[in-house]
Amino acid sequence: MKIKENSNFYCNSVTEYSRYVTREVMVGDLGIGGSNPIRVQSMTTTDTMNTIATVEQSIRMIEAGCELVRITAPSMNEARNLQNIKDELHKRGYKTPLCADIHFTPNAAELAARIVEKVRVNPGNYADKKKFEHIEYTDTAYDAELERIRERFTPLIKICKENGTAMRIGTNHGSLSDRILSRYGDTPLGMVESALEFLRICEDNGFHQIVLSMKSSNPQVMVQAYRLLINKMEAEGMNYPLHLGVTEAGDGEDGRIKSAVGIGTLLEDGIGDTVRVSLTEEPESEIPVARKLVDRYSNRKQAQSAIVPINDIPYSPFEHKRRKTSEVLNIGGHNVPRVVMDFSNYEKITHADLLPVGYNYSEKLDKWNLSDQACDFIYSKGVIDFKIPGTLGIIVDYNEWKGHPKKERHYPLFILEDFIRAEIKSDSLNFVVVNAADLTSLNANASSLENVVLIIQTDNEHGMVEQRRMFIELMQINSSIPVIIEKNYPGISEERLQLYAATDIGALLIDGFGDGVFIMCDQQINNKAQKSFNSLSFGILQATRTRISKTEYISCPSCGRTLFDLQETTAKIRSRTSHLKGVKIGIMGCIVNGPGEMADADYGYVGTGVGKITLYKGKEVVQRNINSEHAVDALIDLIKQHGDWVEA
Ligand code: SF4
Repeated sequence: MKIKENSNFYCNSVTEYSRYVTREVMVGDLGIGGSNPIRVQSMTTTDTMNTIATVEQSIRMIEAGCELVRITAPSMNEARNLQNIKDELHKRGYKTPLCADIHFTPNAAELAARIVEKVRVNPGNYADKKKFEHIEYTDTAYDAELERIRERFTPLIKICKENGTAMRIGTNHGSLSDRILSRYGDTPLGMVESALEFLRICEDNGFHQIVLSMKSSNPQVMVQAYRLLINKMEAEGMNYPLHLGVTEAGDGEDGRIKSAVGIGTLLEDGIGDTVRVSLTEEPESEIPVARKLVDRYSNRKQAQSAIVPINDIPYSPFEHKRRKTSEVLNIGGHNVPRVVMDFSNYEKITHADLLPVGYNYSEKLDKWNLSDQACDFIYSKGVIDFKIPGTLGIIVDYNEWKGHPKKERHYPLFILEDFIRAEIKSDSLNFVVVNAADLTSLNANASSLENVVLIIQTDNEHGMVEQRRMFIELMQINSSIPVIIEKNYPGISEERLQLYAATDIGALLIDGFGDGVFIMCDQQINNKAQKSFNSLSFGILQATRTRISKTEYISCPSCGRTLFDLQETTAKIRSRTSHLKGVKIGIMGCIVNGPGEMADADYGYVGTGVGKITLYKGKEVVQRNINSEHAVDALIDLIKQHGDWVEA
């Protein structure tokens, strides 16, 4: 596809898998970008001054498949100790390249660049102290700021050149400088410009051993920023490798879903040269997750079936705008995306079978209680001989439905051909299953498609892209029919299912496509599996911010700066607050980066010293240095004071 001249350019093709080729950067002996495979990396969480603990954790990461180990160097002491860590690793036979992680301390960066193979700098805080100030810059004042940065940053570039050290210019959405925020705002464009300012200084110095990243805890922002970065690099004739990551993704299922939505969406379009999955778990647990995400593309080009090419896309890939659809019953229009669950393997459905999908029946009161994650429809072929909850719809095959067309809140499911021929249809809601080949016929019969919601299916290996092509075609024919995205994942593990579904469905939702999700799998035959499918569906909607049904945790993965047990604390806070739908809580390991990195959290719990926590409401400090023993209670009091608390 020739969309390079197009102002929406961000990848080689939106229909055929094609890796976006960047220049090769050498990190020691490890090539990133060019024709190298997508590299997997992670970061230690130990105190960098504890040489043995850091070496041993690095070895666990390397043994798990980590190809580049990042270690925090907050001051000169830690930067100096990188030499001991490197020596000890070499002594034990591990030559994996190391990367020093730098914030605020150019002198530590300059020292580390002489020791390790790569340094990561954050353009938001390399030469700036964050004061959260809004300053109006004239062009002259802005240029003077850039000159100041040039003076501060050039010595590091020279050291990197002399020592063959690579560099990552790693922008974080949460830690943009006051200068960037004042001119570009808290936007993907601000993130891109933040990196480009530093990148241009490198180019002026003839230094090209650079990798770039655009991380955010919001996958939508993160995806838009990487796409825009490619667009802007192309315009300036640059092609630096890209390090993909979602920051502060959290732990468990949420962390995996959020990471897959962000990283997977970009990988689908061939974007990305190295990946770090940030989980609030041990760093070695991140590696298999990253591997599963990356390995999905090793044979994608050969395995995919052909998809009709597109020369132009009728939407902006740099912003989220939901495709306009008409409301059909409670689907499409301004309704949140709906969740459909598959019960087609159940011969008979009981009250208890609906518990895992959010409906709790009280026999005593003869009443249904709904959770915030109650699914909206179930697809059933079995017997339901009780009064169903008032918010639940039942999807049944057309042949069964036409025997009882008036059955309360039961809706027919057609294949397109049957729908066109059918004499009896629902006068409120008809589901019609279509695949890519059906779209021409759909267009020809557009006038008969009243009260219709499409369920789009694919069995293409490049399935997300084929389904995206279907949405684009619907846009091109000005169709406003709501669409449920269906994906079927037979016979895969639970973790793979989380990652693949979050990638495939998340990528579409990020671009504003989809009025509902319907995940199917041949294991969906018991209530435990139903619970995890339901939770996965709502998790994907939450991660794409298209339907908020639970508390959002923005917790950092922790590093050598962390002075408390972040995993245990996150679990403690989660156990007390997980019922606060829509509230965003940041749990950050350190005061240096935490407040900036927790981005748009409503409340912040930030480590300030050993046993000391500082609490934030938005970006404002409200309680400083409180004893960690009482800090979770104090956080809950704070949530109560601001009216965001409800009893569980
Ligand atoms: S916010 Fe967390 S991961 Fe980031 S520097 Fe601080 S402790 Fe380390």
